[in-house]
Amino acid sequence: MLLIPCPNCGERDEIEFDYGGRAIQYPALNNSMSDWHMVLHQRDNSTETIEEFWYHQSGCECWFKVTRNLNTHEFES
Ligand SMILES: [Zn+2]
Repeated sequence: MLLIPCPNCGERDEIEFDYGGRAIQYPALNNSMSDWHMVLHQRDNSTETIEEFWYHQSGCECWFKVTRNLNTHEFES
């Protein structure tokens, strides 16, 4: 079970949330296709922490961004 820290409601069970995906930095629209390819298909998976979006569906109905350690699944912010 994963406890997710909602900024409005505190820690809640993961079943109350929808996962919104990784918070990645997209290139500008006029960047080359190779830049877009690198961001969309060749991301570095070696990082220990990632930023991701979560939606508190069964609570305050807010989207928020967190930093999570991929090895321990602990939320760092
Ligand atoms: Zn909430």
